[in-house]
Amino acid sequence: MLLSLACAALPSAQGRPAWLDPFRANAAKIISTATADQFAWDRVAELTDTYGQRISGSDNLGRAIAWAVDTMKADGLENVRTERVMVPKWVRGAESLEITNPPHHIVPLLGLGGSIATPPAGIEAEVLVVANSEELTRRSAEAKGKIVLFNVPYTNYGETVAYRSGGARMAAQHGAVAALVRSVGPVGLRTPHTGGMNYGDDTVAKIPTAAIAVEDALRIQRLTGRGIKVRLRLKMEAHFEPDVESFNVVGEIRGSEKPDEIVLVGCHFDSWDPGTGASDDGVGCIVTWEAARLMKKLNIRPKRTLRVVLFTNEENGLRGGNGYRDQHAAEAANHILALESDSGVFAPSRLAFSGSAAARAMVADIATLLAPLGLQDIGPGGGGADIGPIATLGKVPMMAYSGDDTKYFTIHHTPADTVDRIAPAEVSKAAAAIAAMVYVVADMPQALPK
Ligand SMILES: [Zn+2]
Repeated sequence: MLLSLACAALPSAQGRPAWLDPFRANAAKIISTATADQFAWDRVAELTDTYGQRISGSDNLGRAIAWAVDTMKADGLENVRTERVMVPKWVRGAESLEITNPPHHIVPLLGLGGSIATPPAGIEAEVLVVANSEELTRRSAEAKGKIVLFNVPYTNYGETVAYRSGGARMAAQHGAVAALVRSVGPVGLRTPHTGGMNYGDDTVAKIPTAAIAVEDALRIQRLTGRGIKVRLRLKMEAHFEPDVESFNVVGEIRGSEKPDEIVLVGCHFDSWDPGTGASDDGVGCIVTWEAARLMKKLNIRPKRTLRVVLFTNEENGLRGGNGYRDQHAAEAANHILALESDSGVFAPSRLAFSGSAAARAMVADIATLLAPLGLQDIGPGGGGADIGPIATLGKVPMMAYSGDDTKYFTIHHTPADTVDRIAPAEVSKAAAAIAAMVYVVADMPQALPK
């Protein structure tokens, strides 16, 4: 009673809330251990060097999942297991794009996940460049039989990604034969960005769709702006094969007093196929998994269960996150907090929280322990695609660990998403912050309020 009163009501004294005193020593140990070396970065490198890209349905992903199970067991995590879900298998195949007139020119491209193929000989047509859907509607009569290029400047991911996911459908509604999108990212070194797309319902024809680099979109725009008719030839072999078996990987530190109450940390283990899925989301997997490894290593067993889940198939299906919700529906409300890392760890990074004001106040108190890491300020908007389904069902507060957006979206879904862009100290810092935060949430006397 005394403890719970302390939790709920005692004000901060110079940023040192008294209710945190029992947790200070362990939190400090977690932070100093995590930041003493570059273990976490080395593990991201091992994962991404050994298994490479991990698109759903690939052998690479299957092998990486087996490695994660073995490695979690070797770390001493408890109840290490896989939980089966069926995932889509989209296969890119060979693909090419060329300007056939004016003078021949090869254009780097990445087909968008979910796209259909072109006929084997490709699709050759004149291009119509539009800046947005309004311009396409205005110039609808010109779109028929053409390849529509959406040359949409990047504002922010949430806004601009609408053209990647829906561009093919928009273009097909106006009679286009294929759709290209300017890659969704702030800057690039002529790097196309892939990503998921969908055709929606069956009322509109399906046309092949791909992303091109910002530089090529701008070049084609300039050419057509000078009144030149630009012809393109697009060839794609992209197709779906039947769904295949995949798995979420689960490992735990069982709670000493309230093992049925769960603090969930996670990431997605699949990636897109061009890079090695280092920032998206290998690093998110390792820094959340580290919370459990560090507790085990330091012999810290919190009162509640800490559960790590490496979700499968976030990128083109969310079957892992939805499968976890379905398989754990009965204990959804027992989830005390769910934290996901899926935005990289590029500095400046931060923790974010979404939940009730009472819970936020406690999380803000706990975050004072992260001052040595510079992560004491908790931002708004914590959440994640994979934890979303269980959190919605169980009305679970959510947190996110996020790095700098601009750096993340520069390499997002490109061949440039590799481990060498990630600073070892930033990985250690993320692991330290997540581990210290969830340790206190899992060990404090009263559950985080909903
Ligand atoms: Zn991701």
